[in-house]
Amino acid sequence: MPKTSKIEWTQFTWNPVTGCSRVSEGCRHCYAERMAGRLLAMGSPRYRNGFKVTLHPDLIDLPRRMAKPRVIFVNSMSDLFHEKVPDNFIRRVFDTMAACPQHTFQVLTKRSGRLRAIAPQLPWPKNVWMGVSVEDERVVSRITDLAQVPAQVRFLSLEPLLGPLDNLELTAIHWAIVGGESGPGARPMAEAWVESIRQQCEKQKVAFFFKQWGGVNKHSTGRLLNGRNYDAMPAHGTGVRRPGGATVNRAWRKVALDVVA
Ligand code: SF4
Repeated sequence: MPKTSKIEWTQFTWNPVTGCSRVSEGCRHCYAERMAGRLLAMGSPRYRNGFKVTLHPDLIDLPRRMAKPRVIFVNSMSDLFHEKVPDNFIRRVFDTMAACPQHTFQVLTKRSGRLRAIAPQLPWPKNVWMGVSVEDERVVSRITDLAQVPAQVRFLSLEPLLGPLDNLELTAIHWAIVGGESGPGARPMAEAWVESIRQQCEKQKVAFFFKQWGGVNKHSTGRLLNGRNYDAMPAHGTGVRRPGGATVNRAWRKVALDVVA
């Protein structure tokens, strides 16, 4: 079931797929893998296979049954474009998103090659925001792949940032989220790496969101950069009113703070 995030009542996660496998250095301390292990130990039926890729077809239509507009993070416990997820299953997930204009969906992948290959077969309504994770220079080709995807909002999750990214091609990118690794064994992030990305975003007119410094105790390191918060959102996401006076923009800010994969 999609569940309310621990930090934001307007935000949901929707996991029609659970489980994944590591694909690059950014996966080394995968939060989803740790969480799946815990849920398996607790006897959760959705995680009976632990972190092995598992399809949940009974959840594909769930957002259609939610009339109230939500900001929904898709597959926080997997990667929708994993090689073990059939093309047809991915298409059905996208069909659901296209049929739910009341919601805004965020999809994030490290499998950008597959995303690029299958993108022409998928619907790209304006309520689907598509992103790739990039943790260091070895995987910047994911940005090139994303640039070819006809999503109305394309974003980067530069987290956990593990090295400098001084020559980003951001022409087709609307939003960049930067964050350091957190939790046990967290690897350090240099301030110079973050400041370089911020300056590139400013120069190339890309919304810049600084999520956290991270570390073993992320609450002690906070998220101030240059003595302030950076909470910019893509222009596409601003000013959309939700019931109760909250805005999609505000909800997305919370999503950005909660992205883990
Ligand atoms: S869920 Fe994300 S971080 Fe975890 S193994 Fe899969 S791609 Fe890597």
